[in-house]
Amino acid sequence: MTDPRPASALTIAGSDSGGGAGIQADLKTFAAHRVHGLSAIAALTAQHTRGVTAVEVPSLAFLRAQIDACFDDFNVQAVKLGMLATSDVIHAVADALEHHRPPHLVLDPVMVATSGARLLQPDALDAMRQRLLPLATIITPNLPEATLLTGQAIESLEAMQAACAHFLEAGVRAVLLKGGHLPVDASPDTIVDLLADASGVRSIQHPRLQLEAHGTGCTLASAVAAGLAMGAPLAIACREASGYVHRALLRGYRPGLGSVVVLDHF
Ligand code: PLP
Repeated sequence: MTDPRPASALTIAGSDSGGGAGIQADLKTFAAHRVHGLSAIAALTAQHTRGVTAVEVPSLAFLRAQIDACFDDFNVQAVKLGMLATSDVIHAVADALEHHRPPHLVLDPVMVATSGARLLQPDALDAMRQRLLPLATIITPNLPEATLLTGQAIESLEAMQAACAHFLEAGVRAVLLKGGHLPVDASPDTIVDLLADASGVRSIQHPRLQLEAHGTGCTLASAVAAGLAMGAPLAIACREASGYVHRALLRGYRPGLGSVVVLDHF
């Protein structure tokens, strides 16, 4: 019998009180894709368009209760992971995912915000490598995150290709490596992202916009999760997610006193 419930996507990530990134961006993205959105809040941030002013982590038991509540009732077809803050949170999330085994898992290995605020403790890198990378359908690092995960500097398209190969050799199933941090003279007008999996490497390109935007990484990963939840093949989910972020950026706006632009999801 087919499941009468609509496909849901679950975000396990940090809350952004400013509404531009994290859980809030993820739920807006799911809604714009007409996918029912669920959330388990792994960290709370007090933040606005000028930075993060405080961070708090809920108890691990409460985090697990949120995740279990989602899996115990809804048709969870994809999970997106964002800010997980500490190695204890990573272990708790990995335990829950190993128990519930969602069909698709998109890991955005969030480490440092554009504003410079730390969103993952440095000693949590090993836990992310050992517990989460092997579970992911796809990981979506930016270049600073990929550099920390691989230990290799990435300053050219060739280095991006080498980093993708490094991830696949380490057992990661697929990687969408975001090239937005490449030195501007390496690709002045275009941003090149690489999608690599067992079937090869493809590039996804879009025009470079001169904006300091907030929440683009969260939005890209949750748009990929929404696509996968609806049954799209991985390459199509990634290409459509990239277009979605680009269109939302073109309509972006400044909601606060800072110069930061947030995405318009609708
Ligand atoms: N705050 C939270 C809760 C996040 O999850 C993230 C991103 O992943 C950020 C802030 C950082 O967003 P950005 O680097 O786009 O400013």
